[in-house]
Amino acid sequence: MQRLHNFSAGPCTLPDEIFEKASQAVINFDGSGLSILETSHRSEAFTEVIQKAQSLALELSGLKNKNYYALFLHGGASFQFMMTAYNLLVNKAAFIETGRWSENAIAEAQYFGKTEIIASSKDKNHTYIPKKIQCPSDVDYLHFTSNNTIYGTQFKSFPQTEVPLVCDMSSDIFSRQIDFSQFDLIYAGAQKNIGPAGATLVLVKEDILGKVTRKIPSILDYQKQIKAKSVYNTSPVFSIYVSMLNLEWLVRQGGLKVIEKRNQEKAEMLYHEIDRNSLFKAYAKKQDRSMMNAVFTSVDSKFDEKFLNFANQHQISGIKGHRSLGGFRASMYNALGIESLEKLVNCMKEFEKNTNT
Ligand code: PLP
Repeated sequence: MQRLHNFSAGPCTLPDEIFEKASQAVINFDGSGLSILETSHRSEAFTEVIQKAQSLALELSGLKNKNYYALFLHGGASFQFMMTAYNLLVNKAAFIETGRWSENAIAEAQYFGKTEIIASSKDKNHTYIPKKIQCPSDVDYLHFTSNNTIYGTQFKSFPQTEVPLVCDMSSDIFSRQIDFSQFDLIYAGAQKNIGPAGATLVLVKEDILGKVTRKIPSILDYQKQIKAKSVYNTSPVFSIYVSMLNLEWLVRQGGLKVIEKRNQEKAEMLYHEIDRNSLFKAYAKKQDRSMMNAVFTSVDSKFDEKFLNFANQHQISGIKGHRSLGGFRASMYNALGIESLEKLVNCMKEFEKNTNT
């Protein structure tokens, strides 16, 4: 079957070889005749899988043997908006507001304590990343979103602060080399650079836990999840298995150094065409553009529908912009090949040639 060039923001494309392995595991997982879909989360085979996935996540982030734990939990990144605050917010937390997802994180934290927005890009509809961020020292932690999936902006450097740093890295985790140890807690829904939807990765430093006095329901308690090795209840077995395969694939590619270079090349190709093409314009400020999600619009909205149809005819899928912005969004996660970018860029050129403005 011919696969589409999938630019979806998530769930998104995964490497071809992963689909083959995952399909095989659906039929016969460990050779015993059991499908991965009917494999117990307490089985020896799955225990090996989740331990391997945790170990790969720590290895890729350089956090092995550094007092961090890797958890694969349920509930998506949205669940972590609440869970981080439940576990970490004693009195007040600081936030950088750079779009919808950070706004949601702020709204959830307000159930547990005070929130202070210390920087925001709202004044320009989140087209940029705020700079020179000063974080007060009287907050329990600073939360921010490293990559704004909807608006296509990305932090190129991170806030310097003495307070614990909590980061929603859902849409750019494992896409580039960074010093992960500057963060005390990182979370990411699996469905972009990790694997299929259903699991959420949390990388947490043990030292920041146990400071709140409120009682935390067991399933929401990071310390209990650590104790249970993230199998407190039935795990999303398939999602974690495919995440493990995908993280192995990433290591085989040469890890974050190699993938970052590839991601840079892909993003440069697309932004170059957006800037060159007379029919399109980029949404985000140049220096803050995301390497993962390129958001752009037509110079005239009358071209929107036409270009979407034209792209669809060329096996390009998932470039319709987020419903709040319209236009287009091309997501270029790790598994999207350079040939998909070539296809999209050629399609944009051809569309320009065929269109009378
Ligand atoms: N944070 C970011 C940066 C996202 O891109 C998304 C979803 O796309 C979310 C949070 C919400 O993730 P979930 O649907 O897993 O709750």
